[in-house]
Amino acid sequence: MAASMRVVVVGGGIVAASAAYHLAREGASVVVVEAGLPGPATSAGAGIICPWGDEGDDACYQLAADGAGYYPDLLAMLAGDGETDTSYARVGALCVADEPAPLEAIETLLQSRQSARPEIGDVGLVGPGEPKRAFPPLAPGLRGLWISGGARIDGRSVRDCLLRAAERHGAQRMRGTAALDLPGVTVDGGHLSADAVVVAAGAWTAQVCAPLGIKLPIGPQRGQIIHVSVPGAGTGSWPVIVPPADPYLLGFPGGRVVFGATRENAGFDYRVTVGGVGAMLAAAAKIAPGLAEATLLETRIGFRPATADGRPLLGMLTDGVIVAAGNGPEGLTAGPWTGRAAAALALGQQPAMDIAPFDPARFS
Ligand SMILES: Cc1cc2nc3c(=O)[nH]c(=O)nc-3n(C[C@H](O)[C@H](O)[C@H](O)COP(=O)(O)OP(=O)(O)OC[C@H]3O[C@@H](n4cnc5c(N)ncnc54)[C@H](O)[C@@H]3O)c2cc1C
Repeated sequence: MAASMRVVVVGGGIVAASAAYHLAREGASVVVVEAGLPGPATSAGAGIICPWGDEGDDACYQLAADGAGYYPDLLAMLAGDGETDTSYARVGALCVADEPAPLEAIETLLQSRQSARPEIGDVGLVGPGEPKRAFPPLAPGLRGLWISGGARIDGRSVRDCLLRAAERHGAQRMRGTAALDLPGVTVDGGHLSADAVVVAAGAWTAQVCAPLGIKLPIGPQRGQIIHVSVPGAGTGSWPVIVPPADPYLLGFPGGRVVFGATRENAGFDYRVTVGGVGAMLAAAAKIAPGLAEATLLETRIGFRPATADGRPLLGMLTDGVIVAAGNGPEGLTAGPWTGRAAAALALGQQPAMDIAPFDPARFS
């Protein structure tokens, strides 16, 4: 059946790329339409893959944890398709704090989740000074909680690997702004017919679906995130510094350190602001004073796709239209898994997880 199906995927972020990849692998005829708008979340996202300390909504936690657990399988699949330069690195993660109490609370939570999620790896408290040994710019007195399963990615690299691999399986890519026009979409005035459409347009998903007369409560949460350079440092093997630390920090190969990020309700205002950068720099100076001499490289802006209740939209919107968006602050973790579920729905298959909590019909 997949071989005869024509599917249009709207969007060019990690969710759309994953949907396109899984669809193309199954033999569907896929066209990915990407508008190239400023501020896609995937291009700005920090890249932390370490969801196991999340305390919020359980359905969102399970989705993110499934997503983190899916990465090794995905990487193996991509390697089989010739894509090995994914940037994924299991460098471990450190929660850091001045006091032991918040770290002990997270340790207890992680231990309660370890049997269901063995990919969490080893978990253990480390004393004052140990975090600085692992991530030298940190303040000397910080204590830590080590999580060996923590990993990081560069969202751009994973997205590009997925899209290239999708093309290798026959997917086509098109630049343009799509709007639903069933059966299929219009792209800048021209019609593209399809048996199914996957709308994975991140924070812009409501606009894509508006022609159906459906108002989806999804929009942008702006994040400003700072990149600096620490020449000569072995940043590629540094662990990810995660909450309760504020800001979080990541090392990438080549002396790059990334920290952030703001969470702002500023609409699609694609600007680096004094207030945003100032707040991030002040917070970084406190937790990582060793970055004082680092060179400022760039501030990236991304619009996190945020829904009214914080849960993603994942399911059938109407006959032949699947929506997959709204992963908010954890879309680099959950995005590939979300895209795979959307691909299954488009092919008339059962996704490998319970998507009921994410049904877009909950807002109708
Ligand atoms: C600062 C920041 C830090 C983050 N850190 C992390 C992190 O550490 N870990 C984590 O797991 N997640 C993180 N995230 C969240 C994650 O980046 C997002 O949830 C995820 O990238 C969303 O992917 P997406 O594919 O849904 O949307 P996007 O990446 O935003 O892609 C949407 C795409 O749709 C396209 N589009 C829109 N309208 C149309 C149209 N009409 N036609 C065609 N194309 C269209 C846009 O051009 C865009 O490319 C972070 C996000 C930000 C902003």
